[in-house]
Amino acid sequence: MHLCTPSRFIDLSALLARYGLVLVRVADAPPIPGSYWGEPEAGLIENRVYVRDDTPLHSALHEAAHAICMDDARREILHTDAGGDFAEEDAVCYLQIVLARELGLAPAAMCADMDAWGYTFRLGSALAWFTGDADDARDWLIRHGLIADEGKLTGRCRTGQAGAARSTLRDA
Ligand SMILES: [Zn+2]
Repeated sequence: MHLCTPSRFIDLSALLARYGLVLVRVADAPPIPGSYWGEPEAGLIENRVYVRDDTPLHSALHEAAHAICMDDARREILHTDAGGDFAEEDAVCYLQIVLARELGLAPAAMCADMDAWGYTFRLGSALAWFTGDADDARDWLIRHGLIADEGKLTGRCRTGQAGAARSTLRDA
């Protein structure tokens, strides 16, 4: 299982910064703010993703992908529970695998961690889903401008809502 170790923190922090997201490192003992699943899983509050050294990387990327995949209005009041429908959840899972690639993790490595944690997919494994059954998720991400046609990241968050709350992307 890949974790948010100090050596990975810098790269992950830089990746999230491209989206206006702030990675916050929580010291070992305290609970993680905004953690839906409870520690050591990552927390999410507005544009901030909280991790400890023992937080699984897939968890940090999943929560970050939630922040990227929601519109401005939801991101502005985001706290702990990302919400979203099934289509968005699938898109989040797809996006976290693409984000992991930016950190040097092949899809097979990220998918193995997701399987070990207990994500469940129709085809029995995350990698089988990602490579053979994820057209809907990829189309969702393209439609919302998060990845380009050839599958590369655009580096943008979903906006929507007529740009009413862009200021939330600035760190408070
Ligand atoms: Zn989720």
